[in-house]
Amino acid sequence: MKNVQSKLNSTKRYGLIGHPLSHTLSPAIHESIMEKCKIKGSYKVYDIPPENCKEEFVKILKETDGFNVTIPYKEKIIPLLNSLDDTAKRYRAVNTVTGGRGYNTDIDGLRSYNMDLKGKKVLLLGAGGAARVMFSYVLERGAKELCIAARDVNKAKKIISENDISRFQTKTYAVGFERILSGHDAILNATPVGMWPDCDGCPVSDEIIKSSEYVFDSIYNPVVTKIVLKSRSFGIKAENGLGMLVNQAIRAQKIWNPQTDFSRYDPSDTVDSLKKRLLKDFPVKIVLTGFMGSGKTTAGQMLAKSLDMQFKDLDEIISKKEGKEIPRIFKEEGEQYFREKEKEYLFEIIEKNESTVLATGGGTLVNRENAEYVRKNKGFIIYLEVCLDTALKRVGEGEGRPLLNETSKKDIQNLFDSRLHLYKKNSDVTINGSSPPEDVCTGIKELLMI
Ligand code: NAP
Repeated sequence: MKNVQSKLNSTKRYGLIGHPLSHTLSPAIHESIMEKCKIKGSYKVYDIPPENCKEEFVKILKETDGFNVTIPYKEKIIPLLNSLDDTAKRYRAVNTVTGGRGYNTDIDGLRSYNMDLKGKKVLLLGAGGAARVMFSYVLERGAKELCIAARDVNKAKKIISENDISRFQTKTYAVGFERILSGHDAILNATPVGMWPDCDGCPVSDEIIKSSEYVFDSIYNPVVTKIVLKSRSFGIKAENGLGMLVNQAIRAQKIWNPQTDFSRYDPSDTVDSLKKRLLKDFPVKIVLTGFMGSGKTTAGQMLAKSLDMQFKDLDEIISKKEGKEIPRIFKEEGEQYFREKEKEYLFEIIEKNESTVLATGGGTLVNRENAEYVRKNKGFIIYLEVCLDTALKRVGEGEGRPLLNETSKKDIQNLFDSRLHLYKKNSDVTINGSSPPEDVCTGIKELLMI
């Protein structure tokens, strides 16, 4: 169908240049906009290694009706263009091209957020292309103070010196990444720290996050980054870059297709479908931890069903693979053997390249090594917190729970107490597990923005 279309004269040819591009969502976004706005055309990905980029750029300039530009070519493309519009001149970066003219539509993507930055102290992380745009957006929103932090402080200083800040009231200054202090009202991340597949990265400490009231992460993959998840778990409003991505694409389409009516197009449809696509194409693991009876299996099954993801229960898998119930493994092989098998099967599940909701055993993620492995491998650990009374009521007589069967009430209390702080320490976020499973499931989805 696509081949037939590309042969038609009325069919437009668009695309994206960058490298590497294996993770790009641009085709899905543009195809969705084009389909809904009845624009006939195709959108191709040009993954161009730096060695022969110039020749490729010239070819693509000739053969397309317009294209987008991403890392690492947003500046490199400029000398090959005939002209730049004001946005591209201001940000010295181009993300949209047509007819040899370069534009930057990132600011339009940002403007869709209406961030409340007036009179606020803002911390901007990074000094690349996205940071340049975010820098001028912060000025335009009337911030009181803007600190730009970069690994190389000179890059941050350069952004300040390139901008005409005289007409703004904002005090601007630059710091090295290692010298960031807390006390900023808003944190805007323009670094790739936390981006899939290195989902465990967080650009600033918890202390810095906690002292803020708003966090924006330009990253959109994963839908929830660690900085966004932490912020939301601390009760801080936090947003991701998915809306920015979709809205900058709409602006590009408007540039390419000035005659088209976009008024009936609703970007939220595209945002929702992208979230599902991200979970499918860029696997993550949502891993539930907590004491026996905290509801990991029930809430986990519910969560997996509502997200159209597979559900796995670690204890069930161990039992199946070992050919006997967990209490029997404990009795016949001992706890150490069980823990070794638990680690082995946990790692196996985590290594699989598929999005999964996983309910772990009560002791699995009190083990630091297990928890670190999960977090380092695209895992988000959710601790379902319940009090001991609730846990015991839920597990009844404790059938199938070896530690409960063979331990006195006092020992269970000790076990519970000894694990409590480890659950918290080893997880990314804590959720109240005493609520009905539907509410637990909704709470997790809200935190993960999925
Ligand atoms: P870029 O031009 O390469 O700039 C990246 C910046 O982050 C540079 O200042 C870089 O520092 C810094 N950085 C990289 N790794 C770092 C680390 N480990 N610790 C601290 N700083 C680090 O990239 P960009 O185009 O600005 O994109 C940055 C992020 O914004 C990406 O994640 C991208 O996905 C996102 N973005 C999102 C949208 C959207 O629509 N949502 C649009 C554009 C970009 P050095 O200069 O020292 O390397």
